[in-house]
Amino acid sequence: MPLRSKLLLIVVDGVPERNFRRLFGNLEGWVEHGEARVWKHRSIVPSISGPCYASIHTGTPPQQHGVLANEIRFRIGLPDVFSEVSKAGGRTGSVTHSYWSEFFNRYPFDLVRDLEYDEPEGPITHGRFHSMTGYGRENQMTPSDVDLFATLTMLTERFAIDYGILHTCTLDSMGHRFGHDCLAMDNACLHMDVMLAAFLPRWLKSGYEVIVTADHGQTDRGTHGGREDLQQDTALYWFGGGKGPAQGTVIDQLQIAPTILSRLGVPIPKTMKAKPFLA
Ligand SMILES: [Zn+2]
Repeated sequence: MPLRSKLLLIVVDGVPERNFRRLFGNLEGWVEHGEARVWKHRSIVPSISGPCYASIHTGTPPQQHGVLANEIRFRIGLPDVFSEVSKAGGRTGSVTHSYWSEFFNRYPFDLVRDLEYDEPEGPITHGRFHSMTGYGRENQMTPSDVDLFATLTMLTERFAIDYGILHTCTLDSMGHRFGHDCLAMDNACLHMDVMLAAFLPRWLKSGYEVIVTADHGQTDRGTHGGREDLQQDTALYWFGGGKGPAQGTVIDQLQIAPTILSRLGVPIPKTMKAKPFLA
């Protein structure tokens, strides 16, 4: 039986709310035109990538899923968006950092076996990953975002995935290197916005609902991990149906997983205790 809808989750790593709202003119244009909505989205603490990915996809806090730092990685035993969608008969796609494959499919990541796989039994039906091996302050080791967007689009058109996630570390890496109040970051955000703008209409035309958000924010010094508005708060843009919360509502990161499942018409597992933010 087909799922109720199709959805893409775009996670642009490490973008504080302020940068989304003032520098992503294309996303803001859709909101201004009444075709998208935007809310504040607050990350869990620690506001660190690995713990945030695990919370975004399992709907549980780090103290429950156990990923408390980027260095603590394993196959998480809890239900997550991939496992539930694939259990319901849906096809999933992941164009993300290799951590997502480790958390939700198998650990450790084997470059040759896992960089690209197609496994009809799931939980990740079509995986396309990058490892950023050798990443450091002076050498970002991130793929071009246009390549990532195109790869996700290929999965939607070649395999008709029901749920797809794209995750890119470009802006997080830029932030760690340059901080957030500088010309280099302004331009990097503009590039990202323009690359995304080229693909969004195509996804919407194919019938996908789309979430664009980040896993956490970042300070002007380029750090995150703690409890602070700039470190935790990002924006969440919604291109789709349903009744959303009032303007000014803060979306809890743990609401994302159950919201995605409810949009797709997939049963929400008991471990996801937060309420969907779309009715
Ligand atoms: Zn991150």
